[in-house]
Amino acid sequence: MNKEGHVINGLLLGIGLGFVLRPGGDVETLRTVVAVTVPVVLGALFPDVDTVFGTHRKTLHNLLTLGVFVAFPIAFGNLRYVWIGVLTHYVLDVVGSKRGIALFYPLSGEYGLPTGVATSSRFANAVTLAVTAVELAVAAVLVEHAPDLLAVIGATPG
Ligand SMILES: [Zn+2]
Repeated sequence: MNKEGHVINGLLLGIGLGFVLRPGGDVETLRTVVAVTVPVVLGALFPDVDTVFGTHRKTLHNLLTLGVFVAFPIAFGNLRYVWIGVLTHYVLDVVGSKRGIALFYPLSGEYGLPTGVATSSRFANAVTLAVTAVELAVAAVLVEHAPDLLAVIGATPG
């Protein structure tokens, strides 16, 4: 997926997560939307830094990189929610693009799913929206049924 797709995905996911986490529709909802959307969008943009250094879809598109962003808020108490952006970037690259990513880099090469389309495809935005909708549904289920799990990894507002 290209930058536009990752930004759209991160924005919509962050806004949706804000409402999933604080569904009241009040000032706290708005604060949560902002608190979640900004780091999610930044995280969604981060993996493609490997277009500048390293090898694209390998160096920063792997489980080790994701693990660093999951562990960072637990260890240091900040960068909460950035990992969600990194994860959604990976999901969009695997599910939404033809090329895929090297999730187990450097142990294996790139792979994706047959659902992927070319980044220039007229269906690219539709795939992005579909992936985002599924991600929000999964998030809503997790918030409802596994809030303790989310608290451990810092995904609930404090
Ligand atoms: Zn990417």
